[in-house]
This record gives sequence, C-alpha cells and structure tokens, in this order.
Amino acid sequence: MNLQTGKLYWPTTLLNAPSYDSLQEDIKCDVLIIGGGSSGAMCAHYLSDTNLDIVVIDKRKVGFGSTSSNTALIQYIGEKTFTQLANSFGEEKASRHLQLSKNGMMEIEEVSKTLPIHPDFVQRDSLYYASDPEDVPKLQQEYTLLKKYGFEVDFLTKGEISKLYPFNKEAAIYFKNDGEINPYKFTAGLMQKVQNKGVRIYEETEVKGRDIEKDSITFFTTKGNSIKASKVIIAAGYECLDFKKDKNAVIVSAYTVVTNPVKDFSAWHNRTLIWETARPYIYMRTTADNRIIIGGLDENIEYAKQRDAKLMSKKDKLIEEFNKLFPDMKVYPEFYLSGYYGGTHDGLPMIGIYDDIPHCYFLMGYGDNGMVYNMVLAKILRDVITKGSNADLDNIYIQTRSKL
Ligand SMILES: Cc1cc2nc3c(=O)[nH]c(=O)nc-3n(C[C@H](O)[C@H](O)[C@H](O)COP(=O)(O)OP(=O)(O)OC[C@H]3O[C@@H](n4cnc5c(N)ncnc54)[C@H](O)[C@@H]3O)c2cc1C
Repeated sequence: MNLQTGKLYWPTTLLNAPSYDSLQEDIKCDVLIIGGGSSGAMCAHYLSDTNLDIVVIDKRKVGFGSTSSNTALIQYIGEKTFTQLANSFGEEKASRHLQLSKNGMMEIEEVSKTLPIHPDFVQRDSLYYASDPEDVPKLQQEYTLLKKYGFEVDFLTKGEISKLYPFNKEAAIYFKNDGEINPYKFTAGLMQKVQNKGVRIYEETEVKGRDIEKDSITFFTTKGNSIKASKVIIAAGYECLDFKKDKNAVIVSAYTVVTNPVKDFSAWHNRTLIWETARPYIYMRTTADNRIIIGGLDENIEYAKQRDAKLMSKKDKLIEEFNKLFPDMKVYPEFYLSGYYGGTHDGLPMIGIYDDIPHCYFLMGYGDNGMVYNMVLAKILRDVITKGSNADLDNIYIQTRSKL
C-alpha cells in the first residue's frame, strides 16, 4: 500500500533514530509481531514484561508507516460520538469503550515518562465546537451523556468561547486532560526500550507467504528466510487489510500540513487541541517546537495517484481553514502529506481473529484515535496471549470470525 506521500515532519524531529538489521536467518519465537509502527511497539512493550520470546519485524524502517503521518492528538472521543456509539451499542458498552480509551491515554502518558527518547507528551485540553448552530442540541446531548459517566468536560457558550479564542462559535464541549505526542519519537523510544529487555527487532524484513501447523505458524520473508511462532500479532496498520480484508474497515484519503514555528500563541487558549462537529472535520494542534499541525478535508478516494494529485490544493485549503479561526496568526506549510487513513463503519476499533489464519491476531485500532485504541488493544492482546482470554475482547472488540 502506498501509505503516504509528501514532505513528512515527524522523522525530521529525530535524525539519529536507532536502526536495526534485516533478518538473515531462519528463526523461531513465541510471539511474532508483524509491524514496527506505534501499534507493534505497544504490543512489544506489554509482552516484554512476560517471559515470552518476542520478535518484531517491519518491511520498512521502524515508524515509517502511518506512524509518520499520525497527527497524534491524544483523545478518547472520536469521529463517532458517545451518543452515536450508545445508540449503536448501548450506553454500557459505549461507556466501557470510552473508559478503556481514557485509560489507554493515561498509559501512553505513563509509558512516555520511561522512554530513552523523550516523545514530547503534553497534556492538553480539547475544544470541540459546533460547526453549525444546528449542531448545538447534539452537543448538549453529548455533554449530558459525558457528564453522566463522570468524564471531565465543560459546556461553553458562545460568549465563553469568544473570551478564550478569536472566533465565534455557537457552543462547544471543552474536554480536560487530553494530550499530544510525537508518535515517531514514541515508537523509536519504545522499540529501544523493548530491545534492551530482549525483544529482537528486524527492519526491512517483509513477510508474504505462510505455512500453518497445528500449534504454530511459519511466515516466510521475501528474502527467503522463515519465522516460526506459536502466536502472531499482525500489527501492520492499514496494511493488515493486505493480509485479510475486513468489511467493517473503511479506508479514505486524508491531508495534513505542519506550519512554520510560531512565536505567539496568546490568541490560542491553552494551546488546546481543536476540532468540530462537521464530518469530515478540520482539526489542529501545536507541537513541541511551536509549529501548528492542521488536518482534515478527508475524501473517499481509493487510488493513491488521485489522492496525491489533490495534495497541493488541499494544503492551501487547510491553511485557509486555519486562518478562518486565527486570522492574525501568519503561517505557511513547511511540511505536508496526503495519506490513507482507516476507520470502521461502526466506530469501534477491532481485533480480528479469523478461522482461516489460525494463531494470528489482527490488531486494527482503526479510527481517528487510532493510537489510543492500539494501546487499549495491545494490552488486551497481552492478556489473551498470556492468560487465554479478556472480557473486553469478547464483549466489545472482536469483530469478525470467518468460517474455513
Ligand atoms: C493523517 C492521519 C492522521 C491521524 N491522526 C491521528 C490522531 O490525531 N490521533 C490518533 O490517535 N491517531 C491518528 N491517526 C491514526 C494513527 O496514525 C494510526 O492509528 C497509527 O499510526 C497506526 O500505527 P500502526 O503501527 O498500527 O501502523 P503503521 O505505522 O503503518 O505500522 C505498521 C507497520 O507494519 C509494516 N508492515 C506492513 N505489512 C508488512 C509485511 N507484510 N511485513 C512486514 N512489515 C509489514 C509497515 O511497514 C508499517 O511500518 C492518524 C492517521 C492518519 C493517516
């Protein structure tokens, strides 16, 4: 899959990232993790505290998949709101998913403090504003539900918003204690940490074919080596779908820009994460080196060439959208990309367990909070692999079982 095109920002923030050899021999392990992006690193992190023998492989360099295009707003409410999830799945299941996501965010923050490479995690509040006055009743309903389940939110009126920001919006929900991170440094730091705990990591090692046995599965690399494992986590991001299609997954094209560093953020209350009720939505955050990341204008474009052809006009449009909110901040795009972004039809991330690919778990934290969902799912998979089960997997995240 041609995951992304453009001038990527995150890899420029860590020029001497650790690198790893490619696999040159046949090996065995207890758990093979296919994918060295943030989700594979999270799985390796949880499993590195067990006494299992773990191997991670990636066909690219560590962190050069979608991890490098992730805008990394760390939030628990996503494209499908609490209200929408509760309508689809019931309040109990929807609130459990949000609570697990909140816990996942806290774990990302805690783990960030322990890494040899500092991933610039910062707690940030979020502003979720009504794009249209007609969305205000939906925002009120969402706020009431969030409050009922104890989430830390405030409801802001038009007057309150205009005291904090240079724009007028009819209403907003203000979320406390979300966050932002550098996903590339986070992944590089986690990989370095787990390698120090004995996890074997191989870059530029692509698997294609496989051979299934009763108690194990062997994957073959394109360079002719084999990896035999008792269990396999396929943490291949959107490329999980190259191994197995799933009808709940939706892939669209997304666009982001990263601006020049900005000196004065006084107009931007608390440097909050900002997003809106429109779908698709525009969203923005700031970075450790005082740049602004703006994303959105997603489209249902399937072909990479068509996606990339729109990059130059989308980058200008994103700056235009930003300037509608902050007309006095002078910014221009220094980095920009078009990329595939994956969500799910039902709004929940998923772990795929398929009868025709036994011993394998597909980690698909698809959705706009993909990084947070992957943290939740990686921990669940640790339990499934070490204890045999996890109630949240069975109740919420198992999406598909196919017949042989
Ligand atoms: C534009 C954009 C904005 C986003 N914004 C946010 C956000 O604000 N907040 C948030 O939480 N999430 C966001 N996400 C989602 C987030 O980026 C993803 O959830 C996360 O990066 C996925 O990480 P991953 O490790 O699963 O995938 P990847 O980083 O793609 O890693 C998977 C790895 O698997 C490897 N691989 C694939 N196939 C094979 C094979 N056959 N053999 C060996 N290796 C293989 C690939 O090379 C790749 O490195 C965003 C995504 C996009 C595209």
